[in-house]
Amino acid sequence: MGYILDNDIKFLTGVGEKRAQLLAGELGIRTLGDLLYHFPFRYIDRSRIWRIGEIADDSMTYVQMKVRVTGFRHAGAGAKKRFVAVVTDGSGTAELVWFKGISWVEKRLEQGREYIVFGRPAYFNGVLNVVHPEMESVLEYKNRFHSSVQGVYATTEKLANAQLGSKAIYGLMCNLWPKVEGLLRETLPEELIRERGLMPLRDALYNIHFPTSQQALREAEFRLKFDELLGIQLNILSERHSRTTRNDGFLFPSVGRFFNTFYHEKLPFPLTGAQKRVVREIRQDTVSGHQMNRLLQGDVGSGKTLVALLAMLLACDNGFQACMMVPTEILAGQHFASVSRMVEGTGVRVALLTGSTKKKERTAIAEGLLSGEIHILIGTHALIEDSVRFRNLGFVVIDEQHRFGVVQRARLWAKNEHPPHVLVMTATPIPRTLAMTLYGDLDVSVIDELPPGRKPVRTVHYRDAHRLRVFGFIRDEIEKGRQVYVVYPLIKESEKADYKDLEDGYAGIVQAFPPPRYVTVVVHGKMKPADKEYGMDLFKKGTAQIMVATSVIEVGVDVPNATVMVIESAERFGLSQLHQLRGRVGRGGAQSYCILMSGDKLSADSRKRLGAMVATSDGFELAEMDLRLRGPGDMKGTLQSGSAFDLKIANLSKDAQVLSAARSAAERILERDPGLAEPRNRPLRELADKYASSKETDFSMIS
Ligand code: ADP
Ligand code: MG
Repeated sequence: MGYILDNDIKFLTGVGEKRAQLLAGELGIRTLGDLLYHFPFRYIDRSRIWRIGEIADDSMTYVQMKVRVTGFRHAGAGAKKRFVAVVTDGSGTAELVWFKGISWVEKRLEQGREYIVFGRPAYFNGVLNVVHPEMESVLEYKNRFHSSVQGVYATTEKLANAQLGSKAIYGLMCNLWPKVEGLLRETLPEELIRERGLMPLRDALYNIHFPTSQQALREAEFRLKFDELLGIQLNILSERHSRTTRNDGFLFPSVGRFFNTFYHEKLPFPLTGAQKRVVREIRQDTVSGHQMNRLLQGDVGSGKTLVALLAMLLACDNGFQACMMVPTEILAGQHFASVSRMVEGTGVRVALLTGSTKKKERTAIAEGLLSGEIHILIGTHALIEDSVRFRNLGFVVIDEQHRFGVVQRARLWAKNEHPPHVLVMTATPIPRTLAMTLYGDLDVSVIDELPPGRKPVRTVHYRDAHRLRVFGFIRDEIEKGRQVYVVYPLIKESEKADYKDLEDGYAGIVQAFPPPRYVTVVVHGKMKPADKEYGMDLFKKGTAQIMVATSVIEVGVDVPNATVMVIESAERFGLSQLHQLRGRVGRGGAQSYCILMSGDKLSADSRKRLGAMVATSDGFELAEMDLRLRGPGDMKGTLQSGSAFDLKIANLSKDAQVLSAARSAAERILERDPGLAEPRNRPLRELADKYASSKETDFSMIS
């Protein structure tokens, strides 16, 4: 016999064919199980019956009263036509008001009878009103299955129009529960429940919908979050287990000519302590015999590229090729230029491959890669195309990882028979909780130290009205020989309209900073690569003092002489994006400034974001805050890690505690039974499979 929770929702009392279709289309609810796992997002306390006399004002959102009907009246006309029931409970009188469904209410209400009434209180001319209250007879109330705390459920406009609002969904839940409660299967082994003091699944599901107390609700939430996070952790950790038990990682035992020549003769400055530490970590990984999967986090300007270069040279020293994939052509060009410059004279051959590489050159690169003549390939997405083949790819660097999808990553992995070592670099500090979940299978290195001599960037927020003052400041800085970025938001890359701001802004800038005294260049994603490069070049050389740009310069532009970053319509950027942009200045020894421009009217969220930018320059702090403001759904979007996890209740930004509990439980379980093969672990196998996401599928493409 099938499992009760797999049964079609349409057979549930109160659903039927049409509503079933709506529920599936709007909320993805198809089975009884889907409905049961549609949890409330908040609760209304109906445990208390209020006395009319106690309700002094309309500050309460909901009240429940037990009242007797003393009279009726029709009032108003036309659209204002309404039906009023006057009620009392001995402590005062109130009026229940209906604008719609009047005849139905009229039929049901009986003078002199008692009802339980539930709704929003409001005062009109000193009289307590409840408009469109929920109402049932005291007898109905007593006989109905319900709890004193009522869940509020997510719904949609379409559903609400089909009488499937939150209350109706609560009603369905009341119908559902008696049908399934005796047949629910526990998802965790008895032992684990006991060890961890978890609430059994049946009780958790009951209490999440019909909490018997605050404490029980908290335990129910913990248990259900635990299930989700355990499912994810089991997947991640078993993947890790199989990776680290395979002994097919490439070995880079020798530190040879390339590395040494560069390190001792070319390196223009000593490595920071943090850079040294990370290089050591990579060295250890690459002699371990296991494939490396390492995430390198480091704030903008912390010197990640150099670490990557050293690792790539190590690969070359051991007869392997390396490649580095970056998100934009501009960045690829820059990395190529700076890496080529740095390795000049060491014998290392570097090539650049992007979407705009000419066919002839492409062919030459393809040959060089196959023969092994090219040691390091730097480029964009173009790298993952099937036509790009290496002789012996041993090391892959992915810069600014959140811009690439996991599928793209996996395709890079697959460019050698054995998977190459992988170093993923990001300047978007990913809060620990999220990193553990999204990158559980990656080891994490952190560069937590900036190169010496950097001064923190001073950040200020100005309203548009103060533009003249800002221009004056820019003029002073340029007078000192400095350079300035002015950045405009680009909401959708495809929309032309967004460029209008930039064009208008450019016109304004040129008017205030007229040539030939001042040179201003424009750079944005829609330009021809050659034009873009030309503009970038003028700025890099210092010929241009001002660069007007879209957020394409968010990653990678490196001009130490630039000291001012003006961000226009700053309220339209996300926090981590603002932080990235700010990282473009403060790269030299001089004091740098970030000026956030915004309109006068700001939403509470925007105010918080801009305030946070002014208050702190700590990328991790900002990322945590971003996560709180936007929620992890968005963060996942930014990270493009996919709609990998279908979390119903766990919140990656808030549930650190549950996450570590789930993590340690998963570790213990897998220690004893790495393949989850033992019969007693069958429920865990099922749980893991339920949360086996596309992300993990990608990882498994490696093997
Ligand atoms: P990230 O990619 O982490 O944002 P980069 O690798 O672009 O940072 O480095 C930022 C700047 O710092 C570059 O100009 C780089 O040459 C310089 N840099 C890197 N490491 C050091 C160091 N140890 N000492 C001084 N400058 C450094
Ligand atoms: Mg970088």
